Amino acid sequence: MNGPLLKVENLTKHYPLGSGLFKKSIPMIRAVEDVSFSVEAGETLCIVGESGCGKSTVARLLMRLVEPTGGRVLIEGTDIAGLTKGALRAWRRRMQMVFQDPYSSLNPRLTAGQIITEPVENFERLSRRQRNALAADLLRKVGMSREMMHRLPSELSGGQRQRLGIARALSLNPSLIIADEAVSALDVSVQAQILNLLLDLQQQMGIAFVFISHDLGVVEHIGHSVAVMYLGRLVELAPCEALFAKPVHPYTEALIAAAPVPDPTRVRLEAPVEGEVPSPIHPPSGCAFHPRCPLAVERCRVEVPALVPMGDGRVVACHVRAPLQDILHLMPVPGDHSLDPMVMSETFAARTSRERR
Ligand code: SF4
Repeated sequence: MNGPLLKVENLTKHYPLGSGLFKKSIPMIRAVEDVSFSVEAGETLCIVGESGCGKSTVARLLMRLVEPTGGRVLIEGTDIAGLTKGALRAWRRRMQMVFQDPYSSLNPRLTAGQIITEPVENFERLSRRQRNALAADLLRKVGMSREMMHRLPSELSGGQRQRLGIARALSLNPSLIIADEAVSALDVSVQAQILNLLLDLQQQMGIAFVFISHDLGVVEHIGHSVAVMYLGRLVELAPCEALFAKPVHPYTEALIAAAPVPDPTRVRLEAPVEGEVPSPIHPPSGCAFHPRCPLAVERCRVEVPALVPMGDGRVVACHVRAPLQDILHLMPVPGDHSLDPMVMSETFAARTSRERR
């Protein structure tokens, strides 16, 4: 396969608030605004941000559970927006979702075995023997005994129910799993077991994950790269290690500062950001973070910052920490200010290396 497994380009979702004859006058909830990222096979991209930042809407857009207002979602180069119902159904075999609350996402009247094999039986008929063998195999993969296949979800613990949700997601042998707050409802010790299970499955089966979470401890443990969202927009996207070692965007810095630090030798950053996330119906002008940002300058109030490659594999949207003019004035041909991130990234890297010399 050439190119990334998942490529998201300028994904946007606006929800009209009510209905009316004059569509232009209806207020819009800007849930997701111009979000782009990609995920390689066998890798984990974590999406983080406070509640209401649009991360769960991104998950639903990826699964095409909701239709985007704009932008594209490409799986192995195929735009899923252009697929017919039948073709989309076939593609859904490749993408599965694990939800936050396993109890409400599992049919309470079906046994664990029926829940696990149901997705496969939507595509092909299985004999009783095949069904039992498949259920036993998937239960084993998620660390549960085959006896569990006769139990109802109400007879299982929270951790077992989440394992069951994962087994169900694995039944179609997907190449991508979207996990929306998949461990946040679990106790810390059970969380660790589920996270390690996901890591093992990734190693064994080469599955890619889009892992949505508000818990930075979990993200640091599981992520290859991290996308930070604020009020529907991507503000920083970076390799996981780089992001935690040196956050660049003030919002990322604040999130990391607010996260509990289990290691007493690790230095905490400055005080976390104060105030509430503004309404997505009337987002602040310019950079939406400016009412809460300690570094805000006049420009932040009027101009939305563009995502700028920093030359270390990360992109950041901030007028102060990642000023666009630092990149643009280095363009070789005057007037040819292509915003191609690759070009900008290489130019930035060239300047940094010149400065070092
Ligand atoms: Fe803060 Fe301005 Fe950067 Fe936004 S653009 S994060 S307000 S400094």
